[in-house]
Amino acid sequence: MKVAIVGAGISGLSSAHYLRKLCLEGGIPLELVLFESSARPGGVLDTLKKEDMVLELGPDSFITSKPWALDLARELGLANSLVGVGYGRGKNTFVYCGGELRPLPEGFFLMAPSRLLPFLRSRLFSAGAKLRVLFEPLVPRGGREDESIRSFVERRFGREIFEKAAQPLLGGIYMANPDKLSLSATMPQFLEMEQGRGSVLWSLLRNPPTSRGESGARYGLFLTPLEGMSVIVEKLCESAEFFRRDFETTVLSLRKSEKGWLVGSDRGEEEFDAVVLSIQADTAGQLLSDVDPQLGVRLSGVFYVSSVVATVVFEEKNFCGLPEGLGIIISSTEKMNLVACSLYSSKFPGKCGSGKVVIRCFLGGELNPEAALWDEEKIKVVLNEELAQIFGFDNHPKEIYIRRYPMSMPRFALGHREEISGVMHRLSHHSGLALCGAAYFGVGIPDCVHSGDLAARKIYADMIR
Ligand SMILES: Cc1cc2nc3c(=O)[nH]c(=O)nc-3n(C[C@H](O)[C@H](O)[C@H](O)COP(=O)(O)OP(=O)(O)OC[C@H]3O[C@@H](n4cnc5c(N)ncnc54)[C@H](O)[C@@H]3O)c2cc1C
Repeated sequence: MKVAIVGAGISGLSSAHYLRKLCLEGGIPLELVLFESSARPGGVLDTLKKEDMVLELGPDSFITSKPWALDLARELGLANSLVGVGYGRGKNTFVYCGGELRPLPEGFFLMAPSRLLPFLRSRLFSAGAKLRVLFEPLVPRGGREDESIRSFVERRFGREIFEKAAQPLLGGIYMANPDKLSLSATMPQFLEMEQGRGSVLWSLLRNPPTSRGESGARYGLFLTPLEGMSVIVEKLCESAEFFRRDFETTVLSLRKSEKGWLVGSDRGEEEFDAVVLSIQADTAGQLLSDVDPQLGVRLSGVFYVSSVVATVVFEEKNFCGLPEGLGIIISSTEKMNLVACSLYSSKFPGKCGSGKVVIRCFLGGELNPEAALWDEEKIKVVLNEELAQIFGFDNHPKEIYIRRYPMSMPRFALGHREEISGVMHRLSHHSGLALCGAAYFGVGIPDCVHSGDLAARKIYADMIR
């Protein structure tokens, strides 16, 4: 069987890995060809090794509550190289708000407290906001319609909780406008809490998701390879045993042929039994617009947002004002360009060598799309100004590495789940065609790995039928 994998991000490489595994088990010969428009595999995964530092210019870790990325890392022989988040400098998340850094109360999870005392003692929220949260169990359940993150949080917990915590925390994960983000597609667990017990607060208090001392995210669930995220890409490329790797080759067309599929690239057209499209959904939609116009329209409707990750390295001896925690989010009331800062050298000290403070800064997103278009000089000026404001000191960075991610993060708009189930239904009409990637079931690396596995299973089932 001859299969084209289009797109060499984590999703496409995972689909290749799992397809090869299925074919080995089934005794089916497999010829895999990889098409990738850029000069290297990995997509948004991008590790930079500099002196004694292993810097992540894209994703820095993956969550283990969804098992697929961890399972894959183990299969690839990376179990011993995985490290968790270091708690040497505390587990706090800070909110920059009202001109100062204030810790999110211990146990505060994405949009609500899971421990009452730290929340009630917190200086971050006003007395009115606290009272409003205590009354959350009295708020009636929402309707059956999909709801935006903003509408859900404001309805259940009030505006202040949204502006100071939920907006920057969730906006930082998805880089999208929470007015347009679907709750059911991004945070279904909160919807289940509301629909089940009738109260998110009660559900969180009964089953606190964060460990002692944590706030904001469940840091204890994240792992990263010490050698860098790109080691996953290297191992996947080895394990898939590609017959050919066509880098710097953009796939421009896709047609059905008698035998299967004709994949057209800037190098010409080639026939395959099956194709996995592991590229952005809107690009997949364009490629499929003639094959299946309905599928093409649905896929083309997925909107993507752009962002910038700037990795800023300081000499530790010259740095003042580093808070005892793992991350900083910036309240939407501050009207700043920075969305969030991850205190990378506190989070993963083993990847930062010695004597350095490394901070990953996130800019852009749907609420500030111009930032992703700024030139490096402008980004550096903004970073220097806003970091000085946050830390209260004008610390001079030793190095800044800037990586833009144009149209890289899908926005799960209202009705996303129904749209995607429509996509998967139409896809079932096309033998030898599969889709995978961040646009379908989740943006995180585990979801992308899982989508690659599902794509491989569909191709294999279609081929042996
Ligand atoms: C800045 C950033 C930070 C993130 N941080 C985290 C994190 O810490 N943890 C986490 O779990 N998730 C994180 N995510 C999300 C996660 O990393 C991504 O959703 C995931 O890596 C996407 O993988 P993918 O293979 O689906 O897509 P991509 O990585 O986008 O890969 C798609 C590939 O297809 C290629 N391509 C596109 N069109 C064509 C074409 N026509 N022909 C040939 N090739 C083509 C592209 O060049 C690209 O290499 C982050 C995302 C971003 C953008």
